[in-house]
Amino acid sequence: MGASTVGGGRRDAAPLYRGRVAVTGWGAGSRYAEAIRRDDIVIRTRTPRARLSGAVYDVNYDSLELSPQFAIGNWRDQAFFIHECTHAHLDMRNLGAHSAHLDEAVAYLAEAVFVEASGQRPLGTETIRVVAHEIARRVLAGTYYVPAADSTRLVREVATHPLYAGTTVYRSNRFNRTWIHTILR
Ligand SMILES: [Zn+2]
Repeated sequence: MGASTVGGGRRDAAPLYRGRVAVTGWGAGSRYAEAIRRDDIVIRTRTPRARLSGAVYDVNYDSLELSPQFAIGNWRDQAFFIHECTHAHLDMRNLGAHSAHLDEAVAYLAEAVFVEASGQRPLGTETIRVVAHEIARRVLAGTYYVPAADSTRLVREVATHPLYAGTTVYRSNRFNRTWIHTILR
């Protein structure tokens, strides 16, 4: 299982950032698939977090937590999966402590690009998704970078959302885990 198959051969856009956000499609899906094959990333379905939300990437366990109802054939679940694989991608880049709000902005944008490319409607009506989809439509029209004003706007939407307002830092450490997280995986 990986993002490359999730897209069903459609655009597999994965964002990168080095100071600004660029959107590329260099086959990131095969990297996730390989990480999953090697158990660098594990898929778990029986954890409390997995049961609570459709899909979550946990940087401590390097795990994709998927709800027991998760169905890879369902486009909504595919979109959540792309969002979480983007968090996995940013973890794999070993960025250290970085802006949680920028990390989320990139994940929402990847989700939006996938949903727009699939011809589907946004997963929700939150302003984060409204803004992410506006940017995604421009990406799909051929602008493969996000102008600073747009990324600032998207990051601000994330920062003011109650779900993310209290969390400012995410860690990215590739597959380094504490021994306790390794034992409990
Ligand atoms: Zn997220």
